[in-house]
Amino acid sequence: MKVSPISQLLLYSFIILSIVFSVKAESKVIFSYDGKTGPTFWHLLPNSSSICLEGRHQSPINLFSKIDLIKKFKPPCDVRVENICKAELAHTGNTLEVALGKEEEGVEGGGEEFLPAQFTVENETFKLLQFHFHTPSEHRIDGRHLDVEMHLVFKSPSEKISVVAVFFDVDHKGMDNKFLKPILQRIPKPNEAIEIRNINLKQIFRGINNIQKPYSYTGSLTTPPCTEGVLWWINDKHIQPISPHQRIKLRDAIGFNSRFTQVREPEPESKSDSSLKEYEKDNSKEPEPESKSDSFLKEYEKDHSKKPKKPESKSDSFLKKYKKDHSKKPKPKSKQPELKSDSFLKEYKKDHSKKPKSKQPE
Ligand SMILES: [Zn+2]
Repeated sequence: MKVSPISQLLLYSFIILSIVFSVKAESKVIFSYDGKTGPTFWHLLPNSSSICLEGRHQSPINLFSKIDLIKKFKPPCDVRVENICKAELAHTGNTLEVALGKEEEGVEGGGEEFLPAQFTVENETFKLLQFHFHTPSEHRIDGRHLDVEMHLVFKSPSEKISVVAVFFDVDHKGMDNKFLKPILQRIPKPNEAIEIRNINLKQIFRGINNIQKPYSYTGSLTTPPCTEGVLWWINDKHIQPISPHQRIKLRDAIGFNSRFTQVREPEPESKSDSSLKEYEKDNSKEPEPESKSDSFLKEYEKDHSKKPKKPESKSDSFLKKYKKDHSKKPKPKSKQPELKSDSFLKEYKKDHSKKPKSKQPE
């Protein structure tokens, strides 16, 4: 079959246009926080990933102060920070992002140049690529959103991503937050960028105690393509103040941009085990008042692990007989402590089993 020169030309044009469009689309996933490109449909977006729907370790999550936030983690070491003299503030369409270099390379990925902050985890150094904001917070604490969550996105030479989350909550009597001042002074329009100067990054790191008392877990990017294996540092104990005026300004600029908290899967055994071991080791040295739920659990385990294993000893059965013979009352009395610890365990288990349910889409 012969093809006319005009048809050939049209066919080539079509092929070239298709290549141009697909290359362009590959560089960025276009998403939003509502409608057909909203979080429920992120897995269906071009160049996104099915992991947004099927991932087992997605972020953000709801954190429980009695269970998660008392755990201790080995913090990052060799934290080094300098203030930023000059950077680019970009409105990505979904957030305000501060970075050096090419901001169009991705919302969470950022450019190739680094901002002056870094830390080391297990001999791997992570450098700050960019930071951006979510209103309200993406992670929740005991079900509650905070007003703002800032994500400082770090990258290692082996392309691992680690994100430091910093919460802001409105301080109704407070002055403007100095760190946010140059960022909110002049806000670029969506898909535009401006130059900003003198960002006091040291203030933020001082505010979060140099990431030395964080909660940590392995999750994902909270935006498409929802890549997993992201090491999170959540600074829940050092919440930064933001003035009502600043909060309104930020919210007006970026709107609602918070992914709903995700169904939570247990963390990989090795990590949670080692964290727990570390936590227990620390606690055995210096018992802390915070570890109430743990001590309850230990007491429960002690009680129960002994009771079922213990075949009824002679002295026990004698005692029972004695009690039975002498009065009926002691029997329920002796059971009372058991019931108490039982109810605690039920509560504890209820809390744990509830977690995934509470993370359904809002
Ligand atoms: Zn983010």
